[in-house]
Amino acid sequence: MHEYSLAYGLLEALVEHLRTHPVDGMVRTVHVRKGELVILSEEAIKEAWRILSEDTPLRGSELAFEVVRTRVRCRSCSYDGAAERLAPEEAWHMNIPSLACPSCGARVDIVEGKELAAVSLSVDELSECGPSPPTSDAPKGAPAREAGRPEAQGR
Ligand SMILES: [Zn+2]
Repeated sequence: MHEYSLAYGLLEALVEHLRTHPVDGMVRTVHVRKGELVILSEEAIKEAWRILSEDTPLRGSELAFEVVRTRVRCRSCSYDGAAERLAPEEAWHMNIPSLACPSCGARVDIVEGKELAAVSLSVDELSECGPSPPTSDAPKGAPAREAGRPEAQGR
């Protein structure tokens, strides 16, 4: 399933990212930039995400999409901006349409509109409210010192 592999790709990259940049808390929302030209079912990819993320530090998180408009650059006239769709409307939903320069009609390079990438995370701090969060198995740093009495030094 198409959405499954997309979700898997996102997840793999994020898990790797979290390995090197751990967050302090539970990831609630994963904000994803989705190019206009990326054809997917948001429901399907969210469902895939729920299943795939279960055994990862991202379990319980949700995907939130921000759609990125298509931007193209023309090689012949150096136009830079929105594109003109050549494909008929029905085909638009089925596959990547051919795009042409609105100013000169030449074929264009797609600058934006094809990406699918996680850009940020919303994290619930563990210290914040909520019923005692599950203690994760992240033994980083020394355990917080008990507020013991300071050694009485000196006389
Ligand atoms: Zn052009």
